[in-house]
Amino acid sequence: MNGCVFCNIIKGEIPCKKIYEDNDFFCFMDIKPISKGHVLVVPKKHCENILDFPTEASKRLVEITKKLATIVVKAVGADGFNVGMNNGKAAGQAVFHAHLHIIPRFDNDGLSSWPGKDVTEEELNFIKDKIVTFL
Ligand code: 5GP
Ligand code: ZN
Repeated sequence: MNGCVFCNIIKGEIPCKKIYEDNDFFCFMDIKPISKGHVLVVPKKHCENILDFPTEASKRLVEITKKLATIVVKAVGADGFNVGMNNGKAAGQAVFHAHLHIIPRFDNDGLSSWPGKDVTEEELNFIKDKIVTFL
C-alpha cells in the first residue's frame, strides 16, 4: 500500500535489519526495540490489523513466531518473551500494517506489565453477560 512504511520495507525501498523472509512473511528488527532482540513478524500482503488478516495464514504466522521466538531467546539469552499485537490507535498501534512483536524478557528487566484492576464479581458478571450476547 502506498505510503505504508512496512510495505516499503518489504519492497526494499526502506532498509531494515531482516532476519527471515518467505513467500508470505517478512521479519526484521524493530528500529526502536523495547528490549534486546525485539523482532517484528509482518505479513507481506498489506492488512491493517488482526481483523482483516487472513485466517488461513494464521497457522503459518504462529509457526514462524514460535520459530523466531525460540532462536531470538537463545541468541540474546532471554528468560522469556512476550508476543504482542497492537490493534487500533487506542491500543498503541502506530504502523497500520498488521504485525506481531516478539519482545525478549529478562528476569527483573524492569519492564512493567499491564496493571490489573480490582473489580467486583458483579462487574465481571455484568461485562461477561454483555459480551456473550454478541456471540
Ligand atoms: P505498533 O505500535 O504499530 O504496534 O509498532 C510499530 C513498531 O514498528 C514500533 O515498535 C516501531 O519502533 C517500529 N517501526 C516503526 N517504523 C519502523 C521502521 O522504519 N523500521 C523498523 N525496523 N521498525 C519500525
Ligand atoms: Zn503495508
